Amino acid sequence: MTFTPHGKHLIAGDWVAGDETFTSSPASGEAHSFSVGTPENVNAACEAAEEAFWSYGYTTREQRAAFLNSIADEIEARAEQITAIGTQETGLPEARLNGERGRTTGQLRLFAEHILKGDYLDRRHDEALPDRKPAPRPDLKMVQRPIGPVAVFGASNFPLAFSTAGGDTAAALASGCPVVVKGHSAHPGTGEIVAEAVNAAREKHGLHKGVFSLIQGGKRDVGQTLIQHPNIKAVGFTGSLGGGRALYDLCAQRPEPIPFFGELGSVNPMFLMPAALGARGAEIGKGWAGSLTMGAGQFCTNPGIAVVLEGSDADAFVAAAKDALGEVGPQTMLTDGIAEAYRSGRDRIAKTSGVREVLSSTCDLRNATPYLYETTGENWLANHELGEEVFGPLGLVVRVKDEDEMRKVARSLEGQLTCTIHLDDGDTALAQTLVPILERKAGRILANGFPTGVEVADAMVHGGPYPASTNFGATSVGTLSIRRFLRPVCFQAMPDALLPGDLH
Ligand code: NAP
Repeated sequence: MTFTPHGKHLIAGDWVAGDETFTSSPASGEAHSFSVGTPENVNAACEAAEEAFWSYGYTTREQRAAFLNSIADEIEARAEQITAIGTQETGLPEARLNGERGRTTGQLRLFAEHILKGDYLDRRHDEALPDRKPAPRPDLKMVQRPIGPVAVFGASNFPLAFSTAGGDTAAALASGCPVVVKGHSAHPGTGEIVAEAVNAAREKHGLHKGVFSLIQGGKRDVGQTLIQHPNIKAVGFTGSLGGGRALYDLCAQRPEPIPFFGELGSVNPMFLMPAALGARGAEIGKGWAGSLTMGAGQFCTNPGIAVVLEGSDADAFVAAAKDALGEVGPQTMLTDGIAEAYRSGRDRIAKTSGVREVLSSTCDLRNATPYLYETTGENWLANHELGEEVFGPLGLVVRVKDEDEMRKVARSLEGQLTCTIHLDDGDTALAQTLVPILERKAGRILANGFPTGVEVADAMVHGGPYPASTNFGATSVGTLSIRRFLRPVCFQAMPDALLPGDLH
C-alpha cells in the first residue's frame, strides 16, 4: 500500500492542519503539500510536552523500554511505505533507506536495553557519618534525572536514523523527556509516517499525548520559536554550521539559557604516514575515493582532506584516488540547495590561490560528481578557509614538505568529528607525535580505516570540539548520548518514600 502524506502536524496526539502550506521537492515522484508550522503550533506542542513530563518523567525504565521497542515495531510495520517515501524525497537509494531503517530500530532497541541495565543513572551513595568530627556527614544519594521537554532538529542526510525517531529522539525518550521534533523540510512525508509510528506506540502504552509532537517547518520561525520556548530544556540538532550557530546563539540569549547539542560540520582529515604511504598508497587512495563518494559524500564524517608527505609515493596515492573517483558517475543530492552549496564550495576551493585541480567533472541540477584538488602544506597553513567543509564528494590533498609541517597542519585544524591516521609498523614514532595533537582536535581518532560508517555502540563518540559540535562533552551517537538529556540531582537525608523510584 502506498503512503500519501496528509501534510498535517502531529501536535499532542492530534493531526493538525494549518492555513498556509509548502510543497515538498522530492527527487522523484509526486510533490505533496504540507502545513507550514506556526508559533501557535509550537506553543501547543510545548505546553503539552511540559504537562506530559509530570507523568512521563516518572515512568519506570521498564515502561520506557517497552515504549521504545514498540516504536521500533511500528516503524518496521510501515517498512515498505517508509522506504518508498524516503527514497522519493531524498533521492537516496532503496538499499540505503532499508539499511538506515534497521539502524534506527536497532538504536531504539539498544536504548531500551541500555536503560534497563540502569548503569546510565550513575547512582552514588555517601552514607551518613553521624559521629564524624568536627561535623557529621549527612546521607547523600545522587541519581541522573530527565531534564524536561527536548526539541529535536533532524538531519537532512539521515531521514530516519538522525531524524524524527532518530538518535536524539530515542535518547531523549529513553531518559524520560518528552520530545518536540521540528521536521526537516527535505523529507516532510518521511517525517510524517515515522511520527505516525511513534504516536501509535504512544497510544498502545497509554502514555500522555504530549510525549511526542512533530511540527513541520516551511518557515524558519518554527525552529526559532521552538528553541526559545520556556518549556524546552535542551536541543538536539544535526545540520550546518551556519544554521546550528544561529540556533545556538538564540539558546544562549534566552532569559534561561539552555544547552544546545549541535552536531555541525567537519572535514575529517586523514594523515598518511610515510611507511604506509610507500607500502600501500594506491590502495589507500582507492579506499579514500570510496569513502569520499559514499552517499554522494553527504556524510558529516566524510574524509574531505588527505595530508601526505610530498614525493613519488604521494603521486601514486593521488593517481589511484583520481582513477577511482573518475569512475563515479553523477549521484542525486538530498536537496537542490545542498547541490547548489556543493558547487559553490567547489568554486571556493578551486579559486583559492595555490590550489591545483586534479580531477574535474561537470554536474548540474540536483546531481554531484567528484572533484579532487591538491595544495601544499604551506598554502594550507596560509589559507584558513581551505579547512571549511564542502558537503559532498570533494577531496583536497595537502602535500607537506616534512614531518614537522604535517604536525603544523594538524595543529592548525579546527575541531573535528574524526581524524584518521594510516600507518604501518615503521610509522609508530611519527604517529606518536601526531596522536596527542589529534586527540585535542577530534571526538574519534581512527587507525587504518575510513570514518564514514558510525557504529551505534557504548564506546562511540560522534562529537568533538567546536565547530564539529557545540558541546565537546557530548556525543550524538551511541548510548552515552543519553547523558545530554539528564541532570544529576542529589537527595540529602531524604526519607526513602520521597526518593525517585530509581533510588529505591
Ligand atoms: P541546515 O540548513 O542547518 O538545516 C538543519 C535544520 O535546521 C533544518 O530543520 C532547518 O530548517 C533548520 N535551520 C537551519 N538554519 C536555521 C535558522 N537560521 N533558523 C531556524 N532554523 C534553521 O542543514 P541541512 O541543509 O539539513 O544539512 C546540510 C548540512 O548539515 C551540511 O553542511 C553538513 O555539514 C551538516 N551535517 C552535519 C552532520 C553532523 O553529524 N555533524 C550530519 C549531517 C549533516 P529547514 O528545514 O527550514 O531548512
